[in-house]
Amino acid sequence: MGINYILDKAELENRLKELASTPNVELPYGAMCYDIFNIIDTEIEYTCPECNTVSYCSRHGVQALRIIREYFTALLNAGYDFILYEPEYCKKCDVKNDNPKKLYTLMIRFDPADDYHIVKTNDRYDFECLFSFLTGEKHYHGLHDDELLYDHINTISKMTGLGVDTVIEWQKTYVIKEGRL
Ligand SMILES: [Zn+2]
Repeated sequence: MGINYILDKAELENRLKELASTPNVELPYGAMCYDIFNIIDTEIEYTCPECNTVSYCSRHGVQALRIIREYFTALLNAGYDFILYEPEYCKKCDVKNDNPKKLYTLMIRFDPADDYHIVKTNDRYDFECLFSFLTGEKHYHGLHDDELLYDHINTISKMTGLGVDTVIEWQKTYVIKEGRL
């Protein structure tokens, strides 16, 4: 069974609208997981894909980056139009070197006539959320457990640039289900 990627912009906008108005989705039962990212951090080598310089960075950060790159290899193969780069991880490419958070930059668009939507983040769950949305899921693997995309319509919009009006409507009607978050 292959992954069903949604590439069409209008279809993605409709999908986001549908998710934003469907709070009552059941999560898969018993999906509790222990996150390996919560253990103590250290520094490990990071080799810059642009200039091959070796820097020392947070192990959590570099591991998250590996996961994100795997997602994006899949998205590239599926035909999405985006650029992902990470100069803040490299001591040579990051000229200012003044951001301890080390953000990645994603530029993405769903129509060749559009400008790229640009977003900076270092939260791998933002990417998990994006990936699940693009593949037609209703939930994603979040920080604590499986989380509903319904609870993260704003994150999807932040990551895609889609659904600006949908987010406004969603915020008006947003329902926090007890025990879900
Ligand atoms: Zn570099």
